[in-house]
Amino acid sequence: MTSMNIGVINDFKTKLRGTLLQPSDTGYDEARQIWNAMIDRRPGLIVRCRGTSDVRVAVRFAREHDIPVAVRGGGHNIAGNALCDDGMVIDLSGMRAVHVDREGKKAFVQGGATLGDFDHEAQSHGLATPLGINSTTGVGGLTLGGGFGWLSRKYGLTVDNLLSADIVTADGDLLRARAEQCSDLFWAIRGGGGNFGVATMFEFRLHEVGPEVTTGLIVFPFSQAKQVLTRYRDLVNGLSDDVSLWAVLRQAPPLPFLPPEVHGKEVVVIAFFSLLPLDAVNTELDAVRGFGQACGEHVGATPYVAWQQAFDPLLAPGSRNYWKSHNLDRLADEAIDALIRFVGELPTPECEIFLGHIGGQANRLPPEATAYPHRNVIYAMNVHTRWTDPADDDKCISWARAFFAATAPYAAGSVYINFLTQEEGDRIAEAYGGNYERLRQIKAKYDPRNLFRQNQNIMPA
Ligand SMILES: Cc1cc2nc3c(=O)[nH]c(=O)nc-3n(C[C@H](O)[C@H](O)[C@H](O)COP(=O)(O)OP(=O)(O)OC[C@H]3O[C@@H](n4cnc5c(N)ncnc54)[C@H](O)[C@@H]3O)c2cc1C
Repeated sequence: MTSMNIGVINDFKTKLRGTLLQPSDTGYDEARQIWNAMIDRRPGLIVRCRGTSDVRVAVRFAREHDIPVAVRGGGHNIAGNALCDDGMVIDLSGMRAVHVDREGKKAFVQGGATLGDFDHEAQSHGLATPLGINSTTGVGGLTLGGGFGWLSRKYGLTVDNLLSADIVTADGDLLRARAEQCSDLFWAIRGGGGNFGVATMFEFRLHEVGPEVTTGLIVFPFSQAKQVLTRYRDLVNGLSDDVSLWAVLRQAPPLPFLPPEVHGKEVVVIAFFSLLPLDAVNTELDAVRGFGQACGEHVGATPYVAWQQAFDPLLAPGSRNYWKSHNLDRLADEAIDALIRFVGELPTPECEIFLGHIGGQANRLPPEATAYPHRNVIYAMNVHTRWTDPADDDKCISWARAFFAATAPYAAGSVYINFLTQEEGDRIAEAYGGNYERLRQIKAKYDPRNLFRQNQNIMPA
């Protein structure tokens, strides 16, 4: 990149409505910050796109000059795939518009929007679609990998609610992918990540949600963890799609509804979510309360947008993060024992292990219906190792890897593509299972030279 003729760069700049940043420019260092502070990459060019035309110009320029490309949506990917060294970043963070068609119950969402942008607009009409649990995550990367959250048991994955997407392909063409048009591409982008092009616009189906939902946390002492998790599993096994129960094991944050002596102590947190009003879910709430003697609870009617932001303070950008994840189709006694053992040895107070509860509507499609194949998963179990001092890198990463190894025999043998770290390229085939070969064929059709390879890469067949 450094040897590139200045005239060529200037000519490229004139074709953009957005801005082009190079390493010597003001704002460059800020523009290469992403959620995971472990990632420190120095792109040669950062193209801050203002619209689809900028994306097309950037893709053509990269292709013509054989420049490696990374695409940035919300910048949350744990592997840091929003950035590359030396090459070009196509940065969509200036493309965050959300348009809601209230009568048609649809949303048109630009490729760089965050979940918070989406919920803000859709909820002003009492509408929503399944997204993730942290409002600063990008709609782009989350959707292209599958996407699950509080609404998934009721309404499926994010990709199950995707109606179409505008994709800028490797040769700079703009295609609309939907069930009736470019159907192979539409299948591939519902789980296949950013491998097939840049999504500049997504069209989603919306559902009536809230504006108030029933949510909250019920917190149990760690000494009761075995009983709580066993009863949690038993309840989950017979639960209706109207309720989602996530379990989080960590040290208690200083939440006002917890007694001060619990703050900083290991706890089991059950996060409760339902679209139904409080009085319609009393039976399920009482069942959760019966898991043990809770040390505190805070449950009630909550605005949906507030719940979508409830975990943001624990997930703020700027820390070092390392994840290891397994899909589970059941919660084995041995997995519960390993959870308890490892949470008893957390390497830093910010670390946690969570069981993201899926199932329900998310599991009613066959695995080959979308590129995302995991239609048997009840829990996505993720180790969120989190710290600030680089001196803790080895300690934290070793802990996560040891937990991962200890629980591997009790896992489903698959993983969610969006939870893979940068060194887990050997798990990509596992993440796509029986859909992998079809994805390779479609990659060969739309991106035979693998321009879009700064991702969990699917090699063209
Ligand atoms: C704190 C936190 C909470 C999370 N919670 C959830 C959750 O509840 N549910 C869930 O399903 N996932 C969750 N995730 C995982 C999340 O889905 C992935 O990190 C996802 O990659 C984030 O997308 P992004 O656009 O922010 O990321 P980026 O880092 O910008 O991009 C990720 C990948 O997607 C590609 N990409 C992004 N946008 C586009 C686009 N418009 N067109 C083409 N390619 C694109 C990028 O090139 C890159 O390869 C969470 C992640 C974090 C860090």
